[in-house]
Amino acid sequence: MNKVSELFGSNVFNDSVMKERLPEDVYEILKRTIKEGKGIDSSIADTVASAMKDWAIEKGATHYTHWFQPLTGITAEKHDSFISPTDDGHIIMEFSGKELIKGEPDASSFPSGGLRATFEARGYTAWDPSSFAFIKDETLCIPTAFCSYYGEALDQKTPLLRSMEAINKQALRIVKLFGHNDVKHVNVTVGPEQEYFLVDKAMYDKRPDLLYCSRTLIGAMPPKGQEMDDHYFGVLKPRVAAFMRELDRELWKLGVLAKTEHNEAAPAQHELAPIFTTTNIAADHNQLTMEMMKKTALKHGLVCILHEKPYDGVNGSGKHNNWSLSTDTGINFLKPGKEPDKNPLFLLTLAAVIKAVDAHQDLLRISVATAGNDHRLGANEAPPAILSIFLGEELTALMESIENGKRHDNATGEKMNMADIIPSIKKDNTDRNRTSPFAFTGNKFEFRMLGSASSISDTNVMLNTMVADVFEEFADRLENAKDFEDEINKIIKDTMDNHKRIIFNGDGYSEEWEKEAERRGLLNLRSTVDALPLLKSEDNIKMFEHHKVLSRTEINSRVDIILENYAKTIHIEALTLIDMMNREIVPAITSYTNQLCIAVLNKNNVGGISSTVERELIARLSAANKEIYALTSQLKMAVASAERTTDVLEKAQMYHDTILKLMGDIRKYADSAECVVPSSYWPYPSYGDLLFNI
Ligand code: ADP
Ligand code: MG
Repeated sequence: MNKVSELFGSNVFNDSVMKERLPEDVYEILKRTIKEGKGIDSSIADTVASAMKDWAIEKGATHYTHWFQPLTGITAEKHDSFISPTDDGHIIMEFSGKELIKGEPDASSFPSGGLRATFEARGYTAWDPSSFAFIKDETLCIPTAFCSYYGEALDQKTPLLRSMEAINKQALRIVKLFGHNDVKHVNVTVGPEQEYFLVDKAMYDKRPDLLYCSRTLIGAMPPKGQEMDDHYFGVLKPRVAAFMRELDRELWKLGVLAKTEHNEAAPAQHELAPIFTTTNIAADHNQLTMEMMKKTALKHGLVCILHEKPYDGVNGSGKHNNWSLSTDTGINFLKPGKEPDKNPLFLLTLAAVIKAVDAHQDLLRISVATAGNDHRLGANEAPPAILSIFLGEELTALMESIENGKRHDNATGEKMNMADIIPSIKKDNTDRNRTSPFAFTGNKFEFRMLGSASSISDTNVMLNTMVADVFEEFADRLENAKDFEDEINKIIKDTMDNHKRIIFNGDGYSEEWEKEAERRGLLNLRSTVDALPLLKSEDNIKMFEHHKVLSRTEINSRVDIILENYAKTIHIEALTLIDMMNREIVPAITSYTNQLCIAVLNKNNVGGISSTVERELIARLSAANKEIYALTSQLKMAVASAERTTDVLEKAQMYHDTILKLMGDIRKYADSAECVVPSSYWPYPSYGDLLFNI
């Protein structure tokens, strides 16, 4: 199968396969179910399951799994084979509708936060028919949602589907107000761009920090970093090119619309962008993309690193969540058109996003809060930890003109004519600012704070829910308005009056912006431990419960799980660093110092030869080694003390305040030693080896 068009989706039980293999009436019912986002009709389940099984077996599959995304951040699978014994001692291959629709994995081994105490160990996985089943590793994978015995969400997908429903409900009210009565469904479209690093497997294997933590805990900068800017869009090295070609093919087979692959700013850093699709499918596909990146890299003697900050002093990796809303009839809410001033649906949506992002800065920040991403936000070449929106000068001016009542009155009574200021928006004008964490980029918003390793689900749960909330308020106002046009202008004016502070078109990486943002009263939540507790605020709980996206219990459990993950991550890092120092770095420095001492003695014996250099190096290295040794002991005690703490928040804070700081101190001494210890004595591959050796 060499033709890409034949390859694409060849391992997916997609629409054309369904059409070919299902009886016409069953196909029609299933299609309606998918389109309307309803639960599956149990009367057709057996037929669908049997067709799926036959198709999968023809493709070489022997097993099936309910594929789901627990709160560990990765995907989970429990494989069952299709075999079923017959009376005469043989087997037949079976798969029932019941098995397709519902699975019962033991939930006790997945994180559940506070929920664990209140529910049975049993959990349920339920088929998400809107995300197609696919074959991977000879297994039929059925995308599912995962919840507890009492229906509480234990995964990323359940709240995501609920949030899509919430925004659909309110966005439908909005489009109908504009007379689009044929619209049946409003879809959230998402295109996540994925950044990653590649490293030579042999080098990787020699670094316990990469092996256990996916990031380097020590490492001095090489003489050449990214200052030459010669990597971005540069020519691909043959090994990387071969990897990317194979990755594309693997993803295409799975129906993932991998579109662009290129080098990123840092050496050995790359990016993959897919074509956008419906949110839950985009989320599933992003998980598959990350998995395939790791698997495919290994086949090329490479390791794919998805960590947000594998190397200090080098660009980190993120994800860009491109987000928009479209109707089933093809209207994109965020498409300005040639005359945005005459496109009230666009302007109203813009206002809704501005209001939502300003009112819920905390939620967007929380949605990207992980131990790994904390190293990246606010650091070199990454969005700051402060939320702001880039609209571009033209759109900002347009919104301000409406705010200031410079409305163009049209005596002929022609439909909408909001402000006669700007005829059209030039695309490059909206796309230029790469330093904004939340940028309007032509026909969508691009949220750039996400970490490269996380699921995109949380971010989209937040975005969908907060925009749904604002849409609800706008729809209430507009449905009761005496003068529809006038009310739209008022809504935009109110939004600009109260939320304009979130708009910032300047350099988001500058120090002045940090000060300016503080004057504007914008949040600057620097770390996961600063951000997470805010999720439990009464306002947030009220909003999530109102839109039936997350319950109070689910929110509380999520906060605990995220904080537990945070503490666990740093715990492993600290133990790894202690081990590296005690067993490799301290001995390496000691043995080189010994060598220098012998040199000094020898020179003394000969006499008349200066040993100043050796003596200086001995003094410097001994001092560094002493500090490393002492700080490592302190770190060990601090970890023990954090591990004794039972309160999750307090524990996470100890990891943040004390342990990360000690790790940074140790690193400083180790890195300074690395600069003067010969490579033959240094136990680990250097940054130069890791970054420039592919
Ligand atoms: P960049 O300039 O940020 O590198 P592109 O302009 O090529 O990226 O597009 C970024 C992503 O935005 C792609 O994944 C693309 O499919 C996605 N995208 C385009 N239009 C929409 C939309 N209406 N909704 C969601 N995502 C979209
Ligand atoms: Mg982008």
